[in-house]
Amino acid sequence: MRKYLNTLIDRVTGFPLEASLRKVLAMDKWSRQEIENYQLIMFDKLKQYAVKSSIYKDFKDKNLNEFPVFSRDFYLSHEKEFLTHFRKPYRIIYTSGTTGLPRKIYVSKEMLLAKRTSHLKMLSWYGLKREYKELYIGWAEENLFLKIYYKIKNKIFLSSYGIDQKKAMKYIEILNSEKPRIIFSYPYALDFILAYAETLNVKLFQPKIIYTGAENLFPHIRERIIKHFPESKLVNEYWSTEANIAVECPMGNMHIDEDTVIVEVINKDKNGVGDILITNLFSYDFPLIRYPLGDRIALSDNYCPCGRKTKIISKIYGRVNDYFPLPNGKKFVFLEHDEQLINMCTNILAYQVLYNPEKHKGVFRYIKKNAEKNIDHERITNYFTKYLTTDILLEEVKVIENEPSGKYKIFKISDSI
Ligand SMILES: [Zn+2]
Repeated sequence: MRKYLNTLIDRVTGFPLEASLRKVLAMDKWSRQEIENYQLIMFDKLKQYAVKSSIYKDFKDKNLNEFPVFSRDFYLSHEKEFLTHFRKPYRIIYTSGTTGLPRKIYVSKEMLLAKRTSHLKMLSWYGLKREYKELYIGWAEENLFLKIYYKIKNKIFLSSYGIDQKKAMKYIEILNSEKPRIIFSYPYALDFILAYAETLNVKLFQPKIIYTGAENLFPHIRERIIKHFPESKLVNEYWSTEANIAVECPMGNMHIDEDTVIVEVINKDKNGVGDILITNLFSYDFPLIRYPLGDRIALSDNYCPCGRKTKIISKIYGRVNDYFPLPNGKKFVFLEHDEQLINMCTNILAYQVLYNPEKHKGVFRYIKKNAEKNIDHERITNYFTKYLTTDILLEEVKVIENEPSGKYKIFKISDSI
Protein backbone atom coordinates (compact mmCIF):
# COMPACT_ATOMS: atom_id res chain seq x y z
CA MET A 1 0.00 0.00 0.00
CA ARG A 2 2.66 2.50 1.11
CA LYS A 3 4.75 1.63 -1.92
CA TYR A 4 1.93 2.63 -4.26
CA LEU A 5 1.26 5.80 -2.33
CA ASN A 6 4.94 6.69 -2.63
CA THR A 7 4.84 6.10 -6.38
CA LEU A 8 1.73 8.26 -6.61
CA ILE A 9 3.41 11.07 -4.64
CA ASP A 10 6.43 10.83 -6.97
CA ARG A 11 4.15 11.24 -9.93
CA VAL A 12 2.32 14.23 -8.50
CA THR A 13 5.53 15.98 -7.42
CA GLY A 14 7.33 15.13 -10.66
CA PHE A 15 10.17 13.11 -9.16
CA PRO A 16 10.48 9.76 -11.00
CA LEU A 17 12.38 8.15 -8.14
CA GLU A 18 11.87 4.48 -8.97
CA ALA A 19 13.16 4.86 -12.52
CA SER A 20 16.02 7.05 -11.37
CA LEU A 21 16.99 4.50 -8.72
CA ARG A 22 17.05 1.67 -11.25
CA LYS A 23 19.44 3.68 -13.41
CA VAL A 24 21.76 4.52 -10.54
CA LEU A 25 21.78 0.95 -9.19
CA ALA A 26 22.76 -0.29 -12.64
CA MET A 27 26.01 1.65 -12.21
CA ASP A 28 26.95 -0.74 -9.37
CA LYS A 29 27.74 -3.31 -12.05
CA TRP A 30 29.52 -1.03 -14.53
CA SER A 31 33.19 -1.23 -15.39
CA ARG A 32 35.44 1.75 -14.68
CA GLN A 33 35.45 2.57 -18.40
CA GLU A 34 31.64 2.62 -18.55
CA ILE A 35 31.49 4.99 -15.57
CA GLU A 36 33.99 7.34 -17.18
CA ASN A 37 32.16 7.30 -20.52
CA TYR A 38 28.92 8.17 -18.74
CA GLN A 39 30.63 11.09 -16.98
CA LEU A 40 31.97 12.47 -20.26
CA ILE A 41 28.51 12.39 -21.82
CA MET A 42 26.91 14.00 -18.77
CA PHE A 43 29.60 16.66 -18.58
CA ASP A 44 28.95 17.54 -22.23
CA LYS A 45 25.28 17.90 -21.39
CA LEU A 46 26.08 20.17 -18.44
CA LYS A 47 28.31 22.25 -20.72
CA GLN A 48 25.40 22.82 -23.11
CA TYR A 49 23.62 24.61 -20.27
CA ALA A 50 26.74 26.21 -18.81
CA VAL A 51 27.54 28.08 -22.06
CA LYS A 52 24.25 29.94 -21.64
CA SER A 53 25.85 31.80 -18.71
CA SER A 54 28.06 34.82 -19.34
CA ILE A 55 30.94 33.34 -17.38
CA TYR A 56 31.18 30.12 -19.42
CA LYS A 57 29.94 31.39 -22.79
CA ASP A 58 33.26 30.65 -24.51
CA PHE A 59 33.84 27.25 -22.89
CA LYS A 60 31.95 25.11 -25.39
CA ASP A 61 35.01 23.16 -26.55
CA LYS A 62 36.87 23.03 -23.27
CA ASN A 63 37.61 19.93 -21.23
CA LEU A 64 36.85 19.81 -17.52
CA ASN A 65 40.47 20.46 -16.54
CA GLU A 66 40.49 23.65 -18.62
CA PHE A 67 37.73 25.20 -16.51
CA PRO A 68 39.04 27.67 -13.91
CA VAL A 69 38.63 27.08 -10.17
CA PHE A 70 36.78 30.00 -8.57
CA SER A 71 36.62 30.65 -4.85
CA ARG A 72 33.29 30.39 -3.06
CA ASP A 73 33.33 34.12 -2.43
CA PHE A 74 33.74 34.66 -6.18
CA TYR A 75 30.58 32.62 -6.86
CA LEU A 76 28.72 34.79 -4.40
CA SER A 77 29.95 38.12 -5.74
CA HIS A 78 29.51 37.14 -9.41
CA GLU A 79 26.22 35.31 -9.00
CA LYS A 80 24.48 36.81 -12.04
CA GLU A 81 27.27 35.76 -14.39
CA PHE A 82 26.82 32.10 -13.48
CA LEU A 83 23.06 31.94 -14.00
CA THR A 84 22.02 30.13 -17.18
CA HIS A 85 18.61 31.83 -17.36
CA PHE A 86 16.94 29.23 -19.59
CA ARG A 87 14.21 28.50 -17.05
CA LYS A 88 13.15 29.52 -13.57
CA PRO A 89 15.49 27.91 -11.00
CA TYR A 90 13.66 25.26 -8.96
CA ARG A 91 14.94 26.22 -5.54
CA ILE A 92 17.36 28.68 -3.94
CA ILE A 93 19.00 27.64 -0.68
CA TYR A 94 20.80 30.00 1.64
CA THR A 95 23.30 28.59 4.09
CA SER A 96 25.25 30.39 6.74
CA GLY A 97 28.84 29.51 7.40
CA THR A 98 30.28 29.72 10.90
CA THR A 99 32.85 32.08 9.49
CA GLY A 100 33.08 33.67 6.08
CA LEU A 101 30.29 34.72 3.78
CA PRO A 102 26.92 32.99 3.57
CA ARG A 103 26.25 30.91 0.49
CA LYS A 104 23.41 31.04 -1.95
CA ILE A 105 22.93 27.88 -3.97
CA TYR A 106 20.59 27.41 -6.91
CA VAL A 107 19.32 23.85 -6.75
CA SER A 108 17.90 22.40 -9.96
CA LYS A 109 15.13 19.82 -9.88
CA GLU A 110 17.59 17.32 -11.34
CA MET A 111 20.01 17.96 -8.45
CA LEU A 112 17.25 17.28 -5.97
CA LEU A 113 16.21 14.12 -7.79
CA ALA A 114 19.82 12.93 -7.73
CA LYS A 115 19.97 13.51 -3.96
CA ARG A 116 16.77 11.65 -3.26
CA THR A 117 17.90 8.83 -5.53
CA SER A 118 21.25 8.64 -3.76
CA HIS A 119 19.40 8.22 -0.48
CA LEU A 120 17.28 5.40 -1.90
CA LYS A 121 20.45 3.81 -3.24
CA MET A 122 21.92 3.89 0.26
CA LEU A 123 18.80 2.21 1.69
CA SER A 124 18.88 -0.38 -1.06
CA TRP A 125 22.55 -1.20 -0.32
CA TYR A 126 21.48 -2.08 3.22
CA GLY A 127 18.45 -4.11 2.14
CA LEU A 128 16.04 -1.37 3.20
CA LYS A 129 13.16 0.38 1.48
CA ARG A 130 11.86 3.88 1.85
CA GLU A 131 8.48 2.64 3.06
CA TYR A 132 10.10 1.08 6.14
CA LYS A 133 9.57 2.85 9.42
CA GLU A 134 11.99 5.71 10.02
CA LEU A 135 12.49 7.81 13.12
CA TYR A 136 13.49 11.33 12.16
CA ILE A 137 15.01 13.65 14.77
CA GLY A 138 15.54 17.13 13.41
CA TRP A 139 13.75 20.15 12.16
CA ALA A 140 10.50 20.20 10.24
CA GLU A 141 7.52 22.47 10.20
CA GLU A 142 4.72 21.03 12.22
CA ASN A 143 1.36 21.29 10.52
CA LEU A 144 -1.52 19.00 9.66
CA PHE A 145 -0.46 18.48 6.06
CA LEU A 146 3.01 17.38 7.11
CA LYS A 147 1.60 15.12 9.83
CA ILE A 148 -0.44 13.25 7.23
CA TYR A 149 2.51 13.28 4.84
CA TYR A 150 4.79 11.72 7.46
CA LYS A 151 2.15 9.13 8.32
CA ILE A 152 1.95 8.09 4.65
CA LYS A 153 5.73 8.07 4.43
CA ASN A 154 5.93 5.96 7.62
CA LYS A 155 8.17 8.51 9.30
CA ILE A 156 7.97 9.40 12.95
CA PHE A 157 9.07 12.95 13.36
CA LEU A 158 10.63 14.18 16.62
CA SER A 159 11.67 17.79 16.95
CA SER A 160 15.29 18.53 17.80
CA TYR A 161 14.24 21.63 19.76
CA GLY A 162 15.14 22.09 23.41
CA ILE A 163 15.96 18.50 24.30
CA ASP A 164 16.05 18.19 28.08
CA GLN A 165 15.84 15.11 30.26
CA LYS A 166 12.05 14.84 30.03
CA LYS A 167 12.00 15.10 26.25
CA ALA A 168 14.94 12.71 25.89
CA MET A 169 13.12 10.08 27.97
CA LYS A 170 9.98 10.49 25.91
CA TYR A 171 11.99 10.04 22.69
CA ILE A 172 13.64 6.90 24.05
CA GLU A 173 10.24 5.46 24.90
CA ILE A 174 9.06 6.17 21.35
CA LEU A 175 12.17 4.53 19.90
CA ASN A 176 11.67 1.41 22.02
CA SER A 177 7.96 1.06 21.31
CA GLU A 178 7.94 1.99 17.61
CA LYS A 179 11.04 -0.06 16.72
CA PRO A 180 12.03 1.83 13.54
CA ARG A 181 14.42 0.11 11.16
CA ILE A 182 15.99 3.44 10.24
CA ILE A 183 16.99 6.44 12.37
CA PHE A 184 17.91 9.80 10.96
CA SER A 185 19.10 12.45 13.37
CA TYR A 186 20.90 15.71 13.67
CA PRO A 187 24.06 14.49 15.44
CA TYR A 188 23.97 16.74 18.47
CA ALA A 189 20.29 16.04 19.19
CA LEU A 190 20.97 12.31 19.19
CA ASP A 191 24.04 12.89 21.33
CA PHE A 192 21.87 14.60 23.97
CA ILE A 193 19.35 11.79 23.97
CA LEU A 194 22.10 9.19 24.32
CA ALA A 195 23.80 11.17 27.07
CA TYR A 196 20.56 11.10 29.07
CA ALA A 197 20.07 7.40 28.30
CA GLU A 198 23.55 6.83 29.72
CA THR A 199 22.84 8.53 33.02
CA LEU A 200 19.65 6.49 33.44
CA ASN A 201 21.03 3.23 32.13
CA VAL A 202 18.21 2.52 29.65
CA LYS A 203 18.45 -0.14 26.96
CA LEU A 204 17.76 1.00 23.42
CA PHE A 205 16.08 -0.67 20.48
CA GLN A 206 18.66 -1.33 17.74
CA PRO A 207 17.63 -0.13 14.27
CA LYS A 208 19.28 -1.55 11.17
CA ILE A 209 20.92 1.74 10.23
CA ILE A 210 21.48 5.19 11.68
CA TYR A 211 22.49 8.08 9.48
CA THR A 212 23.03 11.70 10.37
CA GLY A 213 23.06 15.01 8.59
CA ALA A 214 22.84 18.80 8.76
CA GLU A 215 25.62 19.22 11.32
CA ASN A 216 29.18 17.97 11.64
CA LEU A 217 29.39 14.52 13.13
CA PHE A 218 32.08 15.20 15.71
CA PRO A 219 34.22 12.19 16.70
CA HIS A 220 32.86 12.06 20.24
CA ILE A 221 29.29 11.86 18.94
CA ARG A 222 30.20 9.12 16.47
CA GLU A 223 31.72 7.11 19.31
CA ARG A 224 28.68 7.57 21.51
CA ILE A 225 26.32 6.42 18.74
CA ILE A 226 28.41 3.31 18.06
CA LYS A 227 28.56 2.53 21.78
CA HIS A 228 24.79 2.69 22.25
CA PHE A 229 23.84 0.99 19.01
CA PRO A 230 26.34 -1.87 18.69
CA GLU A 231 23.97 -3.88 16.49
CA SER A 232 23.18 -0.99 14.13
CA LYS A 233 25.30 0.37 11.33
CA LEU A 234 26.17 4.04 11.38
CA VAL A 235 26.07 5.00 7.72
CA ASN A 236 27.79 8.07 6.42
CA GLU A 237 26.15 10.01 3.62
CA TYR A 238 28.55 12.71 2.45
CA TRP A 239 26.26 15.48 1.32
CA SER A 240 26.36 19.23 1.03
CA THR A 241 23.83 21.75 -0.21
CA GLU A 242 25.62 21.65 -3.56
CA ALA A 243 25.44 17.91 -4.18
CA ASN A 244 25.16 14.35 -2.92
CA ILE A 245 28.80 13.38 -2.99
CA ALA A 246 29.33 9.91 -1.55
CA VAL A 247 27.65 7.06 0.32
CA GLU A 248 29.20 4.48 2.63
CA CYS A 249 28.69 0.90 1.44
CA PRO A 250 28.18 -2.07 3.81
CA MET A 251 31.91 -2.78 3.60
CA GLY A 252 32.59 0.62 5.13
CA ASN A 253 33.94 2.44 2.09
CA MET A 254 32.73 5.85 0.91
CA HIS A 255 31.76 5.45 -2.74
CA ILE A 256 31.49 8.65 -4.75
CA ASP A 257 28.05 9.19 -6.35
CA GLU A 258 29.63 9.25 -9.78
CA ASP A 259 26.21 9.37 -11.40
CA THR A 260 25.93 12.90 -9.95
CA VAL A 261 29.37 14.36 -9.31
CA ILE A 262 32.88 14.42 -10.66
CA VAL A 263 35.26 14.76 -7.73
CA GLU A 264 38.79 16.16 -8.00
CA VAL A 265 41.38 16.76 -5.30
CA ILE A 266 43.84 19.65 -5.62
CA ASN A 267 46.66 21.07 -3.46
CA LYS A 268 47.46 17.59 -2.15
CA ASP A 269 49.87 17.13 0.76
CA LYS A 270 52.29 14.20 1.01
CA ASN A 271 49.48 11.94 2.29
CA GLY A 272 47.29 12.70 -0.70
CA VAL A 273 44.96 14.93 1.34
CA GLY A 274 43.83 18.00 -0.55
CA ASP A 275 40.94 20.35 -1.32
CA ILE A 276 37.90 18.74 -2.86
CA LEU A 277 36.42 20.19 -6.05
CA ILE A 278 33.05 19.00 -7.22
CA THR A 279 31.32 19.24 -10.55
CA ASN A 280 27.61 18.62 -10.17
CA LEU A 281 26.51 17.06 -13.46
CA PHE A 282 22.94 18.28 -12.89
CA SER A 283 23.65 21.90 -11.94
CA TYR A 284 21.92 23.21 -15.05
CA ASP A 285 20.65 26.51 -13.62
CA PHE A 286 23.80 27.64 -11.84
CA PRO A 287 26.72 25.47 -13.00
CA LEU A 288 28.93 24.16 -10.23
CA ILE A 289 32.02 23.18 -12.16
CA ARG A 290 35.18 22.44 -10.15
CA TYR A 291 33.49 24.07 -7.18
CA PRO A 292 35.56 24.15 -3.96
CA LEU A 293 33.42 22.73 -1.16
CA GLY A 294 35.85 23.74 1.56
CA ASP A 295 36.50 20.19 2.80
CA ARG A 296 39.79 18.34 2.59
CA ILE A 297 39.70 14.73 1.45
CA ALA A 298 41.88 11.91 0.15
CA LEU A 299 40.94 9.43 -2.57
CA SER A 300 41.83 5.76 -2.37
CA ASP A 301 43.87 4.11 -5.12
CA ASN A 302 41.94 0.88 -4.72
CA TYR A 303 38.53 -0.40 -5.62
CA CYS A 304 36.21 -1.63 -2.89
CA PRO A 305 35.94 -5.40 -2.34
CA CYS A 306 32.15 -4.99 -2.67
CA GLY A 307 32.70 -5.03 -6.45
CA ARG A 308 31.54 -1.51 -7.28
CA LYS A 309 33.98 0.34 -9.52
CA THR A 310 33.14 3.84 -8.33
CA LYS A 311 35.97 5.80 -6.71
CA ILE A 312 36.41 5.70 -2.95
CA ILE A 313 37.07 8.59 -0.58
CA SER A 314 39.45 7.29 2.08
CA LYS A 315 39.46 10.35 4.35
CA ILE A 316 37.23 13.34 4.90
CA TYR A 317 38.39 16.21 7.06
CA GLY A 318 35.62 18.61 8.07
CA ARG A 319 35.29 22.10 6.84
CA VAL A 320 38.69 23.75 6.96
CA ASN A 321 36.93 27.03 7.63
CA ASP A 322 35.18 25.97 10.84
CA TYR A 323 37.13 27.87 13.45
CA PHE A 324 37.18 30.90 15.73
CA PRO A 325 39.57 33.60 14.45
CA LEU A 326 41.87 34.71 17.28
CA PRO A 327 43.41 38.19 17.70
CA ASN A 328 46.93 36.79 17.28
CA GLY A 329 45.99 35.63 13.78
CA LYS A 330 45.76 31.98 14.83
CA LYS A 331 42.70 29.78 14.54
CA PHE A 332 40.81 27.76 17.12
CA VAL A 333 39.81 24.82 14.88
CA PHE A 334 36.72 23.06 16.19
CA LEU A 335 37.54 19.55 15.13
CA GLU A 336 40.91 19.62 16.90
CA HIS A 337 39.42 20.80 20.17
CA ASP A 338 36.29 18.70 20.36
CA GLU A 339 38.24 15.54 21.07
CA GLN A 340 40.42 17.20 23.71
CA LEU A 341 37.50 18.86 25.45
CA ILE A 342 35.44 15.71 25.70
CA ASN A 343 38.22 14.12 27.77
CA MET A 344 37.92 16.93 30.30
CA CYS A 345 34.18 16.63 30.53
CA THR A 346 33.94 14.49 33.65
CA ASN A 347 30.39 14.91 34.94
CA ILE A 348 29.42 16.98 31.89
CA LEU A 349 26.49 15.71 29.84
CA ALA A 350 26.81 18.21 27.00
CA TYR A 351 28.59 21.47 26.31
CA GLN A 352 28.67 24.45 24.00
CA VAL A 353 31.42 26.99 23.44
CA LEU A 354 30.41 30.55 22.55
CA TYR A 355 32.97 33.04 21.34
CA ASN A 356 32.81 36.72 20.52
CA PRO A 357 35.78 37.62 18.26
CA GLU A 358 35.16 41.38 18.59
CA LYS A 359 35.46 41.32 22.37
CA HIS A 360 37.77 38.27 22.44
CA LYS A 361 35.49 36.75 25.05
CA GLY A 362 34.25 33.19 25.53
CA VAL A 363 31.58 31.30 27.46
CA PHE A 364 31.57 27.55 28.12
CA ARG A 365 28.02 26.34 28.74
CA TYR A 366 27.47 22.91 30.16
CA ILE A 367 24.83 20.57 31.52
CA LYS A 368 25.91 18.51 34.51
CA LYS A 369 25.39 14.76 34.59
CA ASN A 370 25.08 14.58 38.33
CA ALA A 371 23.92 17.81 39.98
CA GLU A 372 25.60 16.92 43.28
CA LYS A 373 29.05 16.45 41.81
CA ASN A 374 31.50 19.07 40.57
CA ILE A 375 33.11 19.52 37.19
CA ASP A 376 36.80 20.06 36.58
CA HIS A 377 36.66 23.90 36.53
CA GLU A 378 40.38 24.42 36.70
CA ARG A 379 41.31 22.08 33.88
CA ILE A 380 38.72 23.51 31.51
CA THR A 381 39.62 27.11 32.36
CA ASN A 382 43.32 26.44 31.85
CA TYR A 383 42.61 24.77 28.53
CA PHE A 384 40.79 27.79 27.12
CA THR A 385 43.33 30.23 28.54
CA LYS A 386 45.96 28.32 26.60
CA TYR A 387 44.21 27.68 23.29
CA LEU A 388 41.60 30.42 23.04
CA THR A 389 44.17 32.79 24.60
CA THR A 390 41.55 34.31 26.87
CA ASP A 391 39.73 33.55 30.11
CA ILE A 392 36.40 31.87 29.62
CA LEU A 393 33.26 32.08 31.71
CA LEU A 394 31.87 28.71 32.81
CA GLU A 395 28.10 28.68 32.93
CA GLU A 396 25.89 25.80 34.06
CA VAL A 397 22.64 25.51 32.09
CA LYS A 398 19.66 23.14 31.98
CA VAL A 399 19.22 23.14 28.20
CA ILE A 400 21.50 24.07 25.33
CA GLU A 401 19.58 26.24 22.93
CA ASN A 402 19.08 25.40 19.26
CA GLU A 403 19.51 27.57 16.23
CA PRO A 404 16.26 28.62 14.51
CA SER A 405 16.94 25.78 12.03
CA GLY A 406 16.70 23.22 14.84
CA LYS A 407 20.43 22.54 14.62
CA TYR A 408 22.77 22.76 17.55
CA LYS A 409 26.12 24.43 17.32
CA ILE A 410 28.75 23.06 19.68
CA PHE A 411 31.07 25.91 18.74
CA LYS A 412 29.32 29.15 18.00
CA ILE A 413 30.31 32.70 17.18
CA SER A 414 28.09 34.98 19.21
CA ASP A 415 27.97 38.75 19.49
CA SER A 416 25.57 38.63 22.43
CA ILE A 417 28.11 37.59 25.05
ZN1 LIG B 1 31.99 -0.87 -1.38
